[in-house]
Amino acid sequence: MEFRLTSFIKYILNSVLYVIYPSKLSCIICDNEAVEGISLCQECVNKIPICKDEFFIKEELECRSVSYYSYAMKELILNFKYKKDFSSGETLGYLLYKYYERYEEIYDIITFVPMYKTDYLKRGFNQGEILARILGENKKVKVMELIVKVKGVKDQIGLDGMNRWSNLQGAFEINEKYKDSIANKNILIVDDVVTTGATSYCCYQQLKSAGAKKIKLLTLCKSHI
Ligand SMILES: [Zn+2]
Repeated sequence: MEFRLTSFIKYILNSVLYVIYPSKLSCIICDNEAVEGISLCQECVNKIPICKDEFFIKEELECRSVSYYSYAMKELILNFKYKKDFSSGETLGYLLYKYYERYEEIYDIITFVPMYKTDYLKRGFNQGEILARILGENKKVKVMELIVKVKGVKDQIGLDGMNRWSNLQGAFEINEKYKDSIANKNILIVDDVVTTGATSYCCYQQLKSAGAKKIKLLTLCKSHI
């Protein structure tokens, strides 16, 4: 199947990016001509180390990551999250999709780690949601905001392992709107970076209590504090 962009990303691209950038992008790492539709050249895509092994958070939540938080991945994530560079977002969506294609696991729903409303308003978008929607559109799996963040928490960056867990107590709840759509479903949680996994584990616990059958986490990067 051809890789496609979400209508949201297309809209952003059409209205903003093509004014700022030429239609053929150059690779953000080496400046060579990029693969069509993304901001890396084929050589730099091939150089991204793939994280092949599955790992577990608290010996319970099964996870896969595309790669590690370094090299091109770090550059793309920082550009996307903090510089609002949607061509980097689209590139990350492409890498996520290509990785997912290797496994062909079947999910009923794709969801994402939600942001607290004030954080969302500040950034203007949830990077995890955009990645989930790119994947969902390409794999024809519905994307639903199953979890909501009900408490603003301190930024996890700079907190040690233990504090990352306690900082998140009571921060997530099931979205009332979808509370009856979760039981017996196979659900994939998409996120950008997994560090201790505290945030995604809290989401996992909510989905599990709501009766989800199988829950897995797919992230772009595996990182360490
Ligand atoms: Zn390159």
